Amino acid sequence: MKSQEDKFNLVLQSVARTGRQWNVSIPVALLADDSFVDLDVDSALFGDMRWQGQLSAEAGSFMLKGAWQMDVPRQCGRCNVEFAQPMLGDVDVSYEIGSPESQDMKAELELTGDEPEVLENGELNVLDVLREHFWLAWQPLVVCSEDCKGLCLQCGANKNQKRCDCSGEKKENPFAALKNLKFDA
Ligand SMILES: [Zn+2]
Ligand SMILES: [Zn+2]
Repeated sequence: MKSQEDKFNLVLQSVARTGRQWNVSIPVALLADDSFVDLDVDSALFGDMRWQGQLSAEAGSFMLKGAWQMDVPRQCGRCNVEFAQPMLGDVDVSYEIGSPESQDMKAELELTGDEPEVLENGELNVLDVLREHFWLAWQPLVVCSEDCKGLCLQCGANKNQKRCDCSGEKKENPFAALKNLKFDA
């Protein structure tokens, strides 16, 4: 596991001009840290994270760009069923190797956005970046499907799986009354 982790621990000073590329599956066990404590990392619904990205170096700046996707076990907010939710996102961050002074200057510029992140010692852990993006994309409430019918409020039945005969179901046919009328032929 350690050597796998090392693939994602970079020292920007030693990243060659050609940069670095990834097209890998990252096992959830490698990604999981204390922030994953409420997730069932052993669930079969958890998929590896697919990460396709690259780090390129240009004029003292380093650009980390790519895309990730991952299936995550979630509970539907309407019917409570466990399902695999596909999550995905883009990464587009730039970095600079800086001194503590430039970091202070950076703090003052912070509000302008898009500034490169200053890494004092040039150490960049791509797993940390991906984990951060994962949590940024996290939705607190998810549904198994946009047309999930949820649970019956009266009997608790999962209405996606079965029909129940609770009162909500009784549909008066507006023409039912006509059935009793006798028409003269
Ligand atoms: Zn549902
Ligand atoms: Zn019911």
